[in-house]
Amino acid sequence: MTDCIFCKIIKGEIGCFKIYEDSDVFAFLDIENDVPGHTLVVPKKHVSDMDTCDEKTFNKVMLASKKISSHFLNLGYEGVNVATNCKEASGQAVPHFHVHIFPRMHNDGAKLEMRPASKKQTLESVAKKLRMQD
Ligand code: AMP
Ligand code: ZN
Repeated sequence: MTDCIFCKIIKGEIGCFKIYEDSDVFAFLDIENDVPGHTLVVPKKHVSDMDTCDEKTFNKVMLASKKISSHFLNLGYEGVNVATNCKEASGQAVPHFHVHIFPRMHNDGAKLEMRPASKKQTLESVAKKLRMQD
């Protein structure tokens, strides 16, 4: 997509620090540099988020995310957080599907825990609402 910042990065129109590339996937350092090594893994094909991504492309991005994570662990990182934000309400700011990888060390001071907004609903009521059929 012409006005997509990640499409521009993939095409080389905007600079980045590339970490990995194959025929379908591109990965580069997040500009925020909050956790050292924070990496974004994106499909070369423009898809807006995980929900609208076709399964083949999704599988390629996730497999590359696993490969990159294993590479970081082989380099000496002690853990990784892997996450994607899907749609604006979740905090997704760039509408080109991407997976965040945060390389982690014990006691690195990074705080990436999920913080629930409220605990007002019982587990039973939530499960009743969300449970999928077999
Ligand atoms: P999200 O909130 O999940 O959509 O994450 C978007 C991420 O893209 C943020 O962590 C930004 O720091 C990152 N980002 C935005 N622009 C760039 C850029 N030009 N190069 C690298 N990362 C970027
Ligand atoms: Zn794009």
